[in-house]
Amino acid sequence: MLSCEPIADQASFYLPGTDCEILPSVSLADLTSFRVGGPAEWFATPRTVAEFQTGVQWAKAQGLPVMGLGGGSNLLISDRGLPGLTLLTKHLRYLKFEPETGLMTAGAGRLLPQIAGQAAKRGLAGFEWAVGIPGTIGGAVVMNAGAHGGCTADSLVSAQVLEPDGSISQLSLADLHYSYRSSILQGSQRLVLQATFHLQPGVDPEVVKALTQQHLHHRLDTQPYHLPSCGSVFRNPSPQSAGWLIENAGLKGYRIGQAQVAERHANFILNCGGATASDIFRLIRYVQARVSDRWSVQLKPEVKILGDFTAVE
Ligand SMILES: Cc1cc2nc3c(=O)[nH]c(=O)nc-3n(C[C@H](O)[C@H](O)[C@H](O)COP(=O)(O)OP(=O)(O)OC[C@H]3O[C@@H](n4cnc5c(N)ncnc54)[C@H](O)[C@@H]3O)c2cc1C
Repeated sequence: MLSCEPIADQASFYLPGTDCEILPSVSLADLTSFRVGGPAEWFATPRTVAEFQTGVQWAKAQGLPVMGLGGGSNLLISDRGLPGLTLLTKHLRYLKFEPETGLMTAGAGRLLPQIAGQAAKRGLAGFEWAVGIPGTIGGAVVMNAGAHGGCTADSLVSAQVLEPDGSISQLSLADLHYSYRSSILQGSQRLVLQATFHLQPGVDPEVVKALTQQHLHHRLDTQPYHLPSCGSVFRNPSPQSAGWLIENAGLKGYRIGQAQVAERHANFILNCGGATASDIFRLIRYVQARVSDRWSVQLKPEVKILGDFTAVE
């Protein structure tokens, strides 16, 4: 069992034998793309896998839940914050290409647009879809992020995962049980440390770069990137998209507090400045109710809604 400061002290401390500081009550608003949310009960930014292991073991010893935080681009965190230990992955930035085989291994904290650019430069095809997604490899592996007809599961070979007991395991594509924006890792206490992908080698870099740029321009033309959001709020049902159902329920521009259904893309909710997580949560529920009344379709959030919203329900 690890020794550490008593939790009731609410003072920062270093994990035993490491340079990793555990901080109490750290605001998560600036670490999410919605720019809302209360504090993490405990927060750390480990630099090494060993520090992640020690952090996870400390949380286990305290009986605390652990959450991996990547780009914060698919999260709605309660204004009341998050219990447990939040571990930011931004220092896991490892990126290695094997141009001959097309294998690429990236640390969990590496940003998707950077990887798309690096792969394109090397003439490796298969990651162009990721250029406009402001998340990390860890978040993409968990969410099965995708766009422009491609997704994480298309090229993933394996993911290295930190288990809740501090051990490390290697999960194959089949182990991850991927489906649309879904994987076995969602809602689990497992942390992705890195992932390996198989891209198509030997393609003319100019061709890969051109497709990557085309995807980026298409997104900038069709999606509202000028205000904080989480991208698409709802999973797309079939046959109509969530955006179509919301738009045709007359909800474009609808506002609760400072949260607004985007005029440019109805499946986006924007923080127009000073929105709270409660404003956004109420708007999500309102949109669900109106779409259900109008189309008898129950929209399911794609965004991960975390923390206590009971006072808002
Ligand atoms: C403008 C905009 C456009 C977007 N467009 C798209 C799009 O086209 N397609 C798409 O799929 N998504 C899109 N998104 C949503 C988002 O970018 C993706 O879901 C992305 O994969 C989330 O990655 P992240 O690192 O930000 O994860 P976070 O938001 O930090 O976390 C998301 C979930 O993953 C977990 N998680 C994160 N990292 C780890 C880890 N290392 N280990 C274990 N769990 C982890 C978190 O605990 C949480 O449950 C968009 C978002 C924005 C803001």
